[in-house]
Amino acid sequence: MSLDNNCLFCKIIAGEIPAEIVFRNESVVAFNDISPQAPTHVLIVPILHVENAAELAKCSPTITAAILSAADEIAIARGLTGYRSIFNTGAEAGQSVFHAHLHLLGGRSLAWPPG
Ligand code: 5GP
Ligand code: ZN
Repeated sequence: MSLDNNCLFCKIIAGEIPAEIVFRNESVVAFNDISPQAPTHVLIVPILHVENAAELAKCSPTITAAILSAADEIAIARGLTGYRSIFNTGAEAGQSVFHAHLHLLGGRSLAWPPG
């Protein structure tokens, strides 16, 4: 699948930048966020460089679903009784890395609405 040499998350997928990988399959890689906002804060990324979740859904519904399945698998393995899954899309929504990624947050009570 196609990666981008200039992208931080593609470099993590390729092993060029270290990260704490917690899950991997043929479609996705998951690693701990460098600045965790909860006891579990895992980023799940497609092994395919696309800017955001909407673009990913257009080019691969299968990998989009694989991200959600991976989140649930990680949550179950950790015994989380609830979790939040977030795709930030666009800078206004807080997206800072433009390679689609799901934030999996859990292990503490989470307020709603988010800030
Ligand atoms: P966004 O703001 O794009 O939704 O999320 C990007 C996330 O990537 C942030 O939560 C940020 O802490 C995380 N992040 C940024 N740089 C790195 C890095 O080099 N390694 C890891 N593991 N996470 C990173
Ligand atoms: Zn990328």
